[in-house]
Amino acid sequence: MSSPPPTDERHRSGPSFLTDATRWEAVRGRDATADGAFYYAVRTTGVYCRPSCAARLPRPENVSFHVTAADAGRAGFRPCKRCRPRGVEMEAGRDARRSGGR
Ligand SMILES: [Zn+2]
Repeated sequence: MSSPPPTDERHRSGPSFLTDATRWEAVRGRDATADGAFYYAVRTTGVYCRPSCAARLPRPENVSFHVTAADAGRAGFRPCKRCRPRGVEMEAGRDARRSGGR
């Protein structure tokens, strides 16, 4: 069965990040337009990030990609404290969990 590639992704008229290669390129370039399109998780740290995270670039062999933050969480990763990947998905409830001070 050869199904056509998914075209229902909702990007804001940006490039599509459907392959690991293009996703990795976005991470390397800290491409903010990729935020929300996918998340990357780092096996060595157990944390997942937005593509534009300012954290140090992980080794590609330790990285896995997830379409949603929830998906990354289910895979056993925690949201990065620096880029707050969950904040992207839950724009509606910003401070659902009140973070004390700062
Ligand atoms: Zn991060």
